[in-house]
Amino acid sequence: AREAFFQAQKMEAIGQLTGGVAHDFNNLLTAILGSLDLLRKRLPEEPRTSRLLDNAILAAQRGASLTQRMLAFARRQDLAPEPVDVPLLVRGMTGLLERTLGPNVAIETRFPLGLGAAEADANQLELALLNLAVNARDAMPQGGTIIIAARQVAVREPVHATGLPEGDYMCLSVADTGEGMDEATLARAAEPFFTTKGVGKGTGLGLSMVHGMAEQSGGRLILKSRRGEGTTAEIWLPLAAAPRPAGTAPASEAEAEPS
Ligand code: ADP
Repeated sequence: AREAFFQAQKMEAIGQLTGGVAHDFNNLLTAILGSLDLLRKRLPEEPRTSRLLDNAILAAQRGASLTQRMLAFARRQDLAPEPVDVPLLVRGMTGLLERTLGPNVAIETRFPLGLGAAEADANQLELALLNLAVNARDAMPQGGTIIIAARQVAVREPVHATGLPEGDYMCLSVADTGEGMDEATLARAAEPFFTTKGVGKGTGLGLSMVHGMAEQSGGRLILKSRRGEGTTAEIWLPLAAAPRPAGTAPASEAEAEPS
């Protein structure tokens, strides 16, 4: 419990620091982009100058997108949980996934019929799935298939393998058959800023964002990986309460909708 407390404190401090720095940087980059844009309009057309200017604009845009992601990571209190139909959410992401992942990977989905809804922030969940899918793609440089699946799990043991309290959950997973992680990497993978992807390629914020989203939703991020075999990232989320069949009365006063 002590360790968990320190870890939570550390995350909070990192979140605040990240948020502050990202906010200032975002303002600086907006000013830079604005000035570069004006400069481009005023300078006479000249190929070499244009190319330099384009490079500068591209770099500033990359910086802005990075600070956006850092802000999304730091702004952890803004979750708006609602019942999310996960198969529908994933189906709605098909175009985005195809464009982001490129032609080398295929996506397969496995959703059982009658799957309940997950209680989560739909936008954050979409971002989380996108992060996991990008990691899966990066782990399969030769290409391959990413399997997105979901199942309902009733946690009834007092001490479940996930550490989750008793209740009904959805286990949403993104699996690849890529390079996998050794134990040391797996242990650190969800730490903020931990990346093995090299400068300019990885921020090390993807999994920590997914971890934060899952924990705040009352769930977990669980990573399973074996070097050379592949990785499965599981997002566990509480199942949304089943809607009452139409026409039935609420079970008690306390459950009645406030009017
Ligand atoms: P980034 O992707 O920017 O590096 P992440 O937090 O998403 O940041 O991931 C941290 C690290 O965890 C990655 O650099 C990689 O070493 C490892 N990792 C994450 N997902 C996978 C995966 N599907 N397969 C293998 N390694 C992974």
